Amino acid sequence: MNSQATFWIPAVLRALLLLGAAGAVAYFWGLTAGLAAGLVFFIATSGLQLFYLYKLGLWLDKPESERMPDGWGGWTEIFARLYKLKRDDEKNQSELAEWLTRFRQAMSRLPDGVVIMDDVLFLEWCNPISEKHLGLSLERDKGMRVTNLIRHPDFIDYIILGRYEQPLNITLKGRKLVIHLIPFENRRQILVTHDQTELDRIDAMRRDFIANASHELRTPLTVINGFLEIALAQPELDAATRQDHVRLMAEQGKRMQNLIDDMLTLTRLESLDSPLRTEVVRIRPMLEQILQEAKALSSGKHNIVMDVDGPDMKGNTDEMRSAFTNLVSNAVRYTPEGGSIHISWINGENGPEFIVRDTGIGIDPEHLPRLTERFYRVDKSRSRETKGTGLGLAIVKHVLLRHGASLNIASKVGEGSQFKALFPAELAVHSVS
Ligand code: ADP
Repeated sequence: MNSQATFWIPAVLRALLLLGAAGAVAYFWGLTAGLAAGLVFFIATSGLQLFYLYKLGLWLDKPESERMPDGWGGWTEIFARLYKLKRDDEKNQSELAEWLTRFRQAMSRLPDGVVIMDDVLFLEWCNPISEKHLGLSLERDKGMRVTNLIRHPDFIDYIILGRYEQPLNITLKGRKLVIHLIPFENRRQILVTHDQTELDRIDAMRRDFIANASHELRTPLTVINGFLEIALAQPELDAATRQDHVRLMAEQGKRMQNLIDDMLTLTRLESLDSPLRTEVVRIRPMLEQILQEAKALSSGKHNIVMDVDGPDMKGNTDEMRSAFTNLVSNAVRYTPEGGSIHISWINGENGPEFIVRDTGIGIDPEHLPRLTERFYRVDKSRSRETKGTGLGLAIVKHVLLRHGASLNIASKVGEGSQFKALFPAELAVHSVS
């Protein structure tokens, strides 16, 4: 039986039954009694229909599946079907609500901003990242026109021109954003914002590094090429001059070598693929060797003293030697003749400390925050004169970072500087002498 038949066949059968009953009354008690019985049956069934219509009306006012009325005859089927429709609807609604919650959760975790708008750019929904990128607030701005909320002229032009296949690059609240507008469905648009600030910064750093490194290498190379040209053009040059040129070329070659060594060290330190390999670093022999090298670099021009009082340490010997050597050689290189340098290794309040104090030229406080940047120098000519690569403190910073340590610099122009490397206490190895 098809679904329509379940309604009309029983209804027709019931009508025929009542008609038959009225006929039977007319047969036994006469036509008037039969008509009266038919009228009574008609009124009774009509009343019943009105009663169920009334109950249906009541239910439709507040259509909850639990309040579904029972029925009689065809109404049983109608109520059963309405009940099923209602239950299906409730299930769909709860599935939709669940899906919507999951969709919003996923959108909220996206690293990019997402704004959903209608066809005339009225804000319907946006995720927290887009609130941060564009300064929106879903609670406050829902239903408002996005072009009234983001008033940057480039953004307005982008919307007006409608060339949405191209992204818009824009700076908003100090962030470099890439914005895409994507029309979807018929009457909706989605705005995706991506924060490019960090990538741009890294890109600029990389470009600066290449430019700086090329510049640093070009200077010694120009000197070497100059002497080579002289040697080619003037083969009759006397031996002493020629020797002098060779010495100067060797110096520049050494400078290039130092620069490349430092660049490679820095690249290795910065690379995430080279994890810190730790061992017990024997501090005293390492510092004694560094002291000898410092004395050699100073050639007796400074008074250099050292105290080693702290424990050995867990760390990487090569990296720590490189960091400490850089700090000590800086002290020698930036301290005029007759000055003093004090190197100490102590067990500080919060862990081991390596301190280099000098009575050198000092550093103006304005330079301190940038001192560990690659190729940053306070005085370029002095750095070059003293064979500096401009990478020493960048190396120190990275080594310390890899050991969980920090660098503390205090300095006064004309009086001297103090560089302090503060290591975490857990790296100290007290049991090993
Ligand atoms: P450089 O090879 O030029 O010495 P560094 O990275 O080691 O490069 O140091 C960066 C800059 O910090 C130096 O050019 C110098 O201007 C300054 N500097 C470092 N150490 C000292 C110090 N002990 N006294 C004065 N200035 C210093």
